[in-house]
Amino acid sequence: MAHGLHIHVQCPHCGKSLMIPEPKIDQLDSIHFLVKIGNRIGHLYLSQVYGSYEKIFENVEDLPDAVVECSCPLCYRPFPVHHACGSCSAAVIALDLKVGGIIKVCTRNGCAHHSLEFEDSQDALNLFRSQDPSGLL
Ligand SMILES: [Zn+2]
Ligand SMILES: [Zn+2]
Repeated sequence: MAHGLHIHVQCPHCGKSLMIPEPKIDQLDSIHFLVKIGNRIGHLYLSQVYGSYEKIFENVEDLPDAVVECSCPLCYRPFPVHHACGSCSAAVIALDLKVGGIIKVCTRNGCAHHSLEFEDSQDALNLFRSQDPSGLL
């Protein structure tokens, strides 16, 4: 079920939205990444619900614990790496939130480490204000 915050992200390089209407995950538009695992290139679709780990891999195998190289499907540039994950030491990438602030996501498949960060508390407020109340039911 679709509980929690809905996260709409955009590419930190080209500023374009990464939200895509298909496939639906948790009954909502998903977040689209271009991914590389080993030598294979494919697509990864993530739930926009913060705290949901629903995802769909396309053309690449959903290998547990594999490190996934993630890039923008629109400008093809890799998402910026911020630091190593505190729990698994894989790269942690950051994406821009449409309302301001960033979301950090660990690139190891299955690692649950992710976080929201706001430099400006107004951005956090905007995120809460942007939530469609009907989507929270
Ligand atoms: Zn881009
Ligand atoms: Zn991790």
